[in-house]
Amino acid sequence: MKDILKNLSKEQIEEVIQLFNPYMDDYLYIMDLKEDYYRISKHAVERFNLPSDAFYDAINKHNLFVFEEDQPLLTEDFNLMLEGKKKSHNLHYRWLDKNKQPIWINCRGQILDDSDNKPRYLIGCINETGKKQRADNISGLLGEIELDSYIKANVNPNSSGFLMRLSIDNFGSIDAASNMSYGNHIIKNVADCINECLLEEQFLFQIVAAEYMIVDFNNHNIDVAVSLYKNIQKRIAAFIDSENYKSVFTISAGMLDTKYLLDDYTDFLKLTDFSLHNANECGNNSCYIFNPDDYDLFLRRTRITKALYHSIDNNFEGFETFYQPIVDSKTHNLIGAEALMRFSINSDNNEPERISPVEFIPLLEKTGLIIPAGRWILYEAIAMSAKMQEYIPGFIINVNISYIQVIKSNILKDILSAMKKYDLAPECIGIELTESGYLDSNPHFLNLRNGLKESGVKLILDDFGTGYSNLHCLSELNPSYIKIDRNFTNQAMLNNYDHDLMVKIIEMAHQLDLKICVEGVEKTEVLDEVTKINADYIQGYLFGRPYCKEEFYEKFVL
Ligand code: C2E
Ligand code: CA
Ligand code: CA
Repeated sequence: MKDILKNLSKEQIEEVIQLFNPYMDDYLYIMDLKEDYYRISKHAVERFNLPSDAFYDAINKHNLFVFEEDQPLLTEDFNLMLEGKKKSHNLHYRWLDKNKQPIWINCRGQILDDSDNKPRYLIGCINETGKKQRADNISGLLGEIELDSYIKANVNPNSSGFLMRLSIDNFGSIDAASNMSYGNHIIKNVADCINECLLEEQFLFQIVAAEYMIVDFNNHNIDVAVSLYKNIQKRIAAFIDSENYKSVFTISAGMLDTKYLLDDYTDFLKLTDFSLHNANECGNNSCYIFNPDDYDLFLRRTRITKALYHSIDNNFEGFETFYQPIVDSKTHNLIGAEALMRFSINSDNNEPERISPVEFIPLLEKTGLIIPAGRWILYEAIAMSAKMQEYIPGFIINVNISYIQVIKSNILKDILSAMKKYDLAPECIGIELTESGYLDSNPHFLNLRNGLKESGVKLILDDFGTGYSNLHCLSELNPSYIKIDRNFTNQAMLNNYDHDLMVKIIEMAHQLDLKICVEGVEKTEVLDEVTKINADYIQGYLFGRPYCKEEFYEKFVL
């Protein structure tokens, strides 16, 4: 072969390169070392930062498309070849793509000498080492690259249909419990099961090992997708049966109407990934149909979560502590305040965007960021309480604690350290906790409850009358006082049953020597009513909204 090439002229070699062009993923090249000339397959120009597919000043111009760090390595190899000390070239290094991003390539080549036995041509092939395979050898299905080109070629305003991304639920555990070839056997057979259920012109691709994508551009609507999914479930159940239940598994699916590919939503992999993820969130053996509102909400949550991470990394910028007054129901004297977290994102148009705690607290909990953020507000609140003692001795600041902080951090230690730092008496702090079904007999919680009792810090049962916060909590949590949820208060003002219930709860709490704080009091009629039924403390807009520290001082202290 080498000899055949040797006898070809440069032009003939170039012709060979162009001949192979349309059939190859890889790039053929020839470099004329004598004339410092470079020629490469035409399609390389679309991918890399090359000046053109043919150019002189070849060695210097390599600096335009070779990643800077790798240039010395390449120069050294060129020098050895030019000096005739090296007859072949095989280098793994990085080229720059059109966006000047480094791409790993493997460049192999052979030196052809001229009639004087001087190195004349370097001729060879370049391939992208990081490139994905076009097809999966186990299932025999085409992969992501082919899927991408198929979709791009077929999606247009007149086409409609759906994409369905499927995954074998908990495939990792099947794979771990058996040998690899059994895992492969499942992948292959699931592909076959799906294929058997497909209608004409529905195509199946494979994304990763246990994930598949069905593409339908045949004007079928989502109902067709749902019934196809049901058929696939049945077919897989039959396969499991035929294998004598050697392994039992299910399949989940995320479905996307192709109309969404034409709107702003262009990235089908992201959209189908989101859909499949939502299906998985519903549990195994489930399907989910893409809804743009859900997706927008997901994008919003992702944006807020990023901002929360950024903020915590930057000394809690964007976080603030607000304080809402709590008054005595009889005298209306200010006895304390609840510390409430606020968070805003600095947007581009310089008006900060305030996010409601109802939205960001669950995100802090989900990510575990509630631990640093909760610690931060704890220190802020304790510092504020220490300051307030100068004006109103015995002033109590309540801090909300999430169950995540109880279970996953040493919150008791944090509370005691913060109190020590600001030299605050334990009576001047209250810890508000909402029962969420996790705490009942959790050892971390029991430790906190006992620790708080021992050190004299009040434990307050928040949101009484909602969710899990019921009578049974009184014995489990053994709180110092109870806060009645705003919605429950409102209900009690509207119907007799809840009103009587509230009266009884207050009576019972008093018998147990517990105090009651009623939240959400906005009107004087409500104030009169809850005072009549002996609530001890009141928190609500009637006496004040949550205010920032400065405003709180201004309104209640100075
Ligand atoms: P929450 O602990 O029940 O706090 C009381 C909420 O009711 C506050 O909402 C407060 O602004 C609101 N509120 C008080 N009085 C009235 C009223 O008269 N009318 C109306 N309509 N609303 C009233 P906010 O500040 O939006 O906080 C919502 C929830 O976020 C809190 O409910 C609490 O569960 C959570 N949260 C706030 N800050 C923190 C924190 O630092 N840590 C934790 N873990 N959760 C927090
Ligand atoms: Ca609270
Ligand atoms: Ca509450």
